[in-house]
Amino acid sequence: MALIVQKYGGTSVGSVEKIENVAERLIAARKAGHDVVVAVSAMSGETNRLVEMAHQISDNPDPREYDVLVSTGEQVTIALLGMALKERGCDARSYTGSQVHILTDSAHTKARILDIDEAKIRADLDKGRIVIVAGFQGQDEHGNITTLGRGGSDTTAVALAAALKADECQIYTDVDGVYTTDPRVVSDARRLEKITFEEMLEMASLGSKVLQIRAVEFAGKYNVKLRVLSSFKEGPGTLITYEEENMEQAAISGIAFNRDEAKLTILGVPDQPGVAHSILGAIGDANIEVDMIIQNVAADSTTDFTFTVHRNDYERALDILNKTAKELAAREVVGDNAIVKISLVGVGMRSHAGIASQMFKALADEGINIRMISTSEIKISVVVDEKYLELGVRALHAEFGLEEVGLN
Ligand code: ADP
Ligand code: ASP
Ligand code: MG
Repeated sequence: MALIVQKYGGTSVGSVEKIENVAERLIAARKAGHDVVVAVSAMSGETNRLVEMAHQISDNPDPREYDVLVSTGEQVTIALLGMALKERGCDARSYTGSQVHILTDSAHTKARILDIDEAKIRADLDKGRIVIVAGFQGQDEHGNITTLGRGGSDTTAVALAAALKADECQIYTDVDGVYTTDPRVVSDARRLEKITFEEMLEMASLGSKVLQIRAVEFAGKYNVKLRVLSSFKEGPGTLITYEEENMEQAAISGIAFNRDEAKLTILGVPDQPGVAHSILGAIGDANIEVDMIIQNVAADSTTDFTFTVHRNDYERALDILNKTAKELAAREVVGDNAIVKISLVGVGMRSHAGIASQMFKALADEGINIRMISTSEIKISVVVDEKYLELGVRALHAEFGLEEVGLN
């Protein structure tokens, strides 16, 4: 008998009928002899609806109250799922994050899970019950409700699986696995049988929202067997694994992209020690995260400095940069919030040369201008104009033969 943690995302619980479908699946897993713990998200659209209401009241809603508000969506789902199970004669108990002591730090809206008291869950499992836990939420040491960041129910599930030493953590969603790229953008994207933790971490952090990045981190750290599957269609899904030695690796495993990007440039700043700090220090003090950074080679003792931020932070970053520009007597500040980032990811890049130039040529052939580039051991990212996102991703998908993945 195995202990399985399942997680159902928003679209999988998007209506009463779908919740009933989840109940049937859970009963099937129970009948197969497994102990089952299930984490669920809010019904699709609900978290967005709550966030929008908060923003009608304030541009900057109080973080504590924001968490009290947005955590309510999941409570609706756990209760409906509990009812659906009991209606079918299956013993079940639903719990909020606080009720099963999902202890987090106090970083409201993006809290980290520190501990889960699994005793209560075990006691229910021992009685043969299915345990339903609200995803995305916890409480801090003072008893305040916290939330784990958008997409955080994935992390709840993985944390539960780690705490309970579950045999497998199954993330059920509206696609039947992790694909070579978002199948909504490239119709011939292919499902991957397996992807390494390292690659999945890069994909998630570079914009593939199929798994929350912290869930992948957590699973890697605590050795949780993690699988992404469809809640609508049978199949093996995608297993997230450790890299196997001697595994024949394609150069590229996947393409991630992020539409939430904006870039800012300060032109004609003095080329002297401390300038990068003056520019980015002020941005960091405002709690704005900076992603890519480029500083040009100095010409005439001044230089230009470009960086990217999340699109939501664009206006704020621009205001701050304009102030810095005055202080540094810089020539000009320019910005662009209609840019996107496209990234190639693959552990095979370590042993394949020439991937970057192949990528740049494929984009050039489509007439796509590259605005920024950054690389690391297993990824290459470029920033391009937003209007080229689909064209760029499709061109790269074809260039690297990703539509052949998994075909024999
Ligand atoms: P859930 O509500 O179940 O958590 P999400 O919307 O968070 O679902 O994640 C699933 C979505 O992730 C898919 O519908 C798909 O459009 C998107 N996605 C982005 N990149 C990928 C990828 N590489 N493979 C699969 N899905 C992806
Ligand atoms: N309901 C939350 C969100 O929409 C958490 C989740 O779905 O994972 O972000
Ligand atoms: Mg999600």
